[in-house]
Amino acid sequence: MTRDFVYSTSPAHIVFGSGKAGTVGEWIDRIGCRRALVLSTPHQRADAERLAETLGSRAAGIFAGAVMHTPVEVTERAMEIVRQTGADCVVSLGGGSTTGLGKAIAYRTDLPQIVIPTTYAGSEVTPILGQTEGGRKTTVRSAAILPEVVIYDPALTLGLPVGMSVTSGLNAMAHAVEALYAEDRNPVSSLMAAEGLRAFKRSLPAIVATPEDGEARAEALYGAWLCGTVLGTVGMALHHKICHTLGGRFDTPHADTHAIMLPHTAAFNAVAVPDLTAPVAEVFGGSVGGGLWDFARAAGAPLALKDLGLSEKDLDLTAEIATQNPYRNPRPIDRPSIRALLQDAWEGRRPD
Ligand code: NAD
Repeated sequence: MTRDFVYSTSPAHIVFGSGKAGTVGEWIDRIGCRRALVLSTPHQRADAERLAETLGSRAAGIFAGAVMHTPVEVTERAMEIVRQTGADCVVSLGGGSTTGLGKAIAYRTDLPQIVIPTTYAGSEVTPILGQTEGGRKTTVRSAAILPEVVIYDPALTLGLPVGMSVTSGLNAMAHAVEALYAEDRNPVSSLMAAEGLRAFKRSLPAIVATPEDGEARAEALYGAWLCGTVLGTVGMALHHKICHTLGGRFDTPHADTHAIMLPHTAAFNAVAVPDLTAPVAEVFGGSVGGGLWDFARAAGAPLALKDLGLSEKDLDLTAEIATQNPYRNPRPIDRPSIRALLQDAWEGRRPD
């Protein structure tokens, strides 16, 4: 029987296709803008320069200073460039860090955003912005934060290193797994979550085997869109709480942290909601946690928190912070069980 639900869609334009990054100029016109500030990380500056060149007079300038966790100081420097150049929109070319900077600018100015994602993090389809100030990470949600146009162009992801492709894919899959048991899930979010998992099940092994496989890259971006969309529409739980705690407190790398934690948090919650997590076992085989862990291991993902430089003492603090304030989770949370789960993840043990 269908349960009661609320279904809201996001108003963004989603564009898929190899070579579609070449249509950015048209999209700038279509959203009624004239001059875009192109954003990237320092690492992707050359790609941003190439893109700005193709935009000609529609490019107001480039800011290639995006970094992880969207520090407010970096946003303020970018805001200065926005003012100097008179840009009336931003084009974010890159992963979650670059998208985060574009969102931070939009949050302050309401400038429209066009995002060209080059990882699978999924931030481009959420109205959520995480930013850091003085070492503290805060999260805001607002309609102004949701990008107006997203262009998924697999050609720009062919060079995403295999290791990052795998961890980024597992990061995306974590959004889907938590969406399956979200309190505010709806039939469409559950369909999208299961389809997102299937897309990564098919594409990640193919990418590991042949990183330049355009079909597999396209399918992974399709998965990223699905998984990111559910992240933006339904509530996340234990898994995201723990990863947020580890990243915020110990600065562990975002995608690696998600990749390592996913089999453990999924196994923990599967005990309470086996019917809701059944699609995970169907897609990956075996048990929910074991199937995810085997898939991650076969793809060469990191499996142990100790390899991220965490000590066992850090796990005590993580368990304490992650259980301090109550939040929705399908299985009741207590400190000893979360500490035990973290120990398993630290050692890289396969969950049952
Ligand atoms: P990232 O954006 O930090 O990218 C990591 C590095 O890889 C960067 O140097 C980047 O330039 C490089 N890179 C990206 N794409 C590449 C490509 N195709 N080829 C070569 N190099 C490439 O990593 P990420 O995991 O995409 O993003 C992590 C950040 O996104 C975190 O700060 C996280 O909090 C945020 N995030 C936010 C949301 C949200 O909804 N607000 C969702 C997911 C992630």
